[in-house]
Amino acid sequence: MNLVLLGPPGAGKGTQAERLAEEFELPHVASGDLFRENLKNKTELGLLANRYIAEGELVPDDVTIAMIRDRIKRPEYENGVILDGFPRTLAQAEGLKEILTGLGRTLDGVLYIAVPDEELVHRLSGRRICRRCQTPYHIQFKPPQKQGVCDTCGANIYQRDDDKPETVRARLEVYHQQTSPLIDFYRQYGLLTEVDGSGDIETVNSALSEVVRSLMK
Ligand code: AMP
Repeated sequence: MNLVLLGPPGAGKGTQAERLAEEFELPHVASGDLFRENLKNKTELGLLANRYIAEGELVPDDVTIAMIRDRIKRPEYENGVILDGFPRTLAQAEGLKEILTGLGRTLDGVLYIAVPDEELVHRLSGRRICRRCQTPYHIQFKPPQKQGVCDTCGANIYQRDDDKPETVRARLEVYHQQTSPLIDFYRQYGLLTEVDGSGDIETVNSALSEVVRSLMK
């Protein structure tokens, strides 16, 4: 089962990918997490990506596609994967098709989590993530049990620089220009299911689980 979670920044892709991964025992890969991990380790890729991330822009397609190709060809993904944050452009969608075809696999479904812009700004400004394991939190909707400390691994949680208001606006613009065309792209192939992402985490999770269960039949 190879799935893509599509949606604007702040739609809850990371939170929902984590839940689905656990429920369906499918590993998930988040392109943003991979870039941040590279940055933390000061790799060449991380330093390059950070120039774009800091501005709310997309990292170039060739670099992003190569990073995802490298990751999902690993044996732990051979039974399937949930992709979160990739693809984000039409060229990346073509890249994904090629990667999966090369591995003898196909894309089974694209879950589009729809959330209006006004709500996204509010969500992103309250978002915090774990510095070590990248588990996402929200100061209002999903606070950690102990303030500032990750429930999963005990490391500190922090606000991403690109979740600050100026960069959030740039990211939403980039989403509308470059990523939202993927909605029609995947719809035309009959792969897209839209889920209302404006409810609470549990409600959105149930809707997504139902879609995944129906794809598995
Ligand atoms: P995210 O954690 O998914 O919000 O991603 C954070 C940032 O990483 C984005 O604003 C982009 O700068 C970069 N990024 C993540 N995924 C991609 C992608 N598929 N293509 C290009 N840039 C990406």
